[in-house]
Amino acid sequence: MILLDRVTKVYNRTNTALDRISLHVEPREFVIIIGTSGAGKSTLLKLLTKEEKPTSGKIVVGGLDYDKLKDRDIPLVRRKIGVVFQDFKLLPNKTVFENVAFALEIVGYGNKEIQHTVPRVLDLVGLKGKEKRMPHELSGGERQRVAIARAVVRQPKILIADEPTGNLDPKHAWEVIKVLEKINRYGTTVVLTTHNQDIVNKLKRRVIAINDGRVVSDRANAEYNTKDLH
Ligand code: ADP
Repeated sequence: MILLDRVTKVYNRTNTALDRISLHVEPREFVIIIGTSGAGKSTLLKLLTKEEKPTSGKIVVGGLDYDKLKDRDIPLVRRKIGVVFQDFKLLPNKTVFENVAFALEIVGYGNKEIQHTVPRVLDLVGLKGKEKRMPHELSGGERQRVAIARAVVRQPKILIADEPTGNLDPKHAWEVIKVLEKINRYGTTVVLTTHNQDIVNKLKRRVIAINDGRVVSDRANAEYNTKDLH
């Protein structure tokens, strides 16, 4: 569960990035956040991942009250939330397998567990047989699916996908979206930001529109409504 109660983020005196945002996302929901550039989408996601702190308001994610968390508790947040970005952020000198395995190595998983877990998650994202490829040998869509595999390998409760299809052509973009839907069907909450109207219209999910740091509409089974954004 994600709960935001009147969350405000002011970076500097002249700029209120988020203005008393209140939101409630249930476990296993698939939520799309839309908004023009500068609307506050990235700020919202950064508050969820604890990269940024709110100026005021309350944030509770998966039972963790962010006001009460110490810096040493940040690994708890990382454990609950997987993140993928528009630019993939893969390690260029590691294979597909190694990229995903690395996410487990750094938190102390043993070799046996890694050999057991990584092939399963690569299968989940449709990359079976590509374990030994290097990132530069993959299409953009495949690279993004490696990034998704890495984000979900520890089975987070929530997956945040920040413009994951921004660098992809429509065919590869849709493959990535289908993987997000599959992960959602298996029980993970998905929070997706996108500018892609076609994807929003095909998905027909809950759509939250943000404009000038405020929620201007929040609809179930919704289509992309450009009127929300002005
Ligand atoms: P979006 O992701 O929707 O494009 P952002 O959350 O990046 O929007 O930005 C919201 C507002 O906050 C914008 O006016 C932006 O200029 C401002 N902003 C974002 N990050 C910072 C920062 N680190 N310092 C100062 N202002 C920022």
